[in-house]
Amino acid sequence: MALDGKTAVVTGAARGIGYAYCRRLAADGAHVVAVDIEDPADGVRQLTGTGDKLGLVCDISEPAQVDTVVGTVLDRYGRCDILVNNAGVFPFTDLDHVTIELWRTVQAVNVEAILLFAQAFAPGMRAAGWGRIVNTGSGITLTQNRDLAYLTSKGTVHALTRALANELGESGVTVNAIAPGLVATEGFLGRARTNGPSAEEVIARTTAVQTIKRHSVPADLGNALAFLVSDDADFITGQILHVDGGVTRTGA
Ligand code: NAP
Repeated sequence: MALDGKTAVVTGAARGIGYAYCRRLAADGAHVVAVDIEDPADGVRQLTGTGDKLGLVCDISEPAQVDTVVGTVLDRYGRCDILVNNAGVFPFTDLDHVTIELWRTVQAVNVEAILLFAQAFAPGMRAAGWGRIVNTGSGITLTQNRDLAYLTSKGTVHALTRALANELGESGVTVNAIAPGLVATEGFLGRARTNGPSAEEVIARTTAVQTIKRHSVPADLGNALAFLVSDDADFITGQILHVDGGVTRTGA
């Protein structure tokens, strides 16, 4: 298997895109550590593949809880080879409604946790001379969307991806981001909508302006992840890979 013996840590792994990442990494032979604020145990039990599987509950916006996860991973596996920073929150936060508390929560989950996990696991990757960090950005950064806190956080994820790539490139560690388009996950469908179009309308409109006219599914992102963590991608770093059926080409 391509990832035999590698340890992968995935945040936001209980459902949605993060769970699809776990499924793919496990199927490709990695030991998978699924981290989520909700208990990921049910999903972890259903993962296939020969590697070890572990579910850990952690609010990644809390540095002490991140430390606990890092300690557990290092005790059990010695290092993390593949870090997938996927967890994200996306409340509606336009200029009239965003509060500083909400802004900080979005930054803590979507941005700061990436720094905490990367700082903790990069030394082991450097020492091994091999590592993969894959962050979850978003195509929203290229649109006219008004979710201030979310859009800013994902723009920062893209910049942080490039900065980490600059830091780690000489050590055999690549750092890239996958930027999904619109994926009808529980997180997306469950967003509170007080006005504006329904989730179904947003999905229909987005699909209509994609080049590839089908809904995106989490496995689309899993396929991209499998490539970025493989040795075939060892000359690719600091990149934002838009996996969106071609929607960003339209700027829609
Ligand atoms: P999702 O269905 O909401 O899944 C995200 C998971 O992360 C949930 O299980 C969530 O737990 C967990 N989580 C939230 N806050 C956390 C925290 N503080 N600590 C640990 N885990 C936490 O979301 P998704 O649609 O799969 O999105 C995954 C990533 O893709 C996010 O970074 C998102 O911004 C990005 N993205 C998604 C889309 C899309 O259209 N879906 C598009 C572009 C980018 P709870 O159940 O408690 O919330």
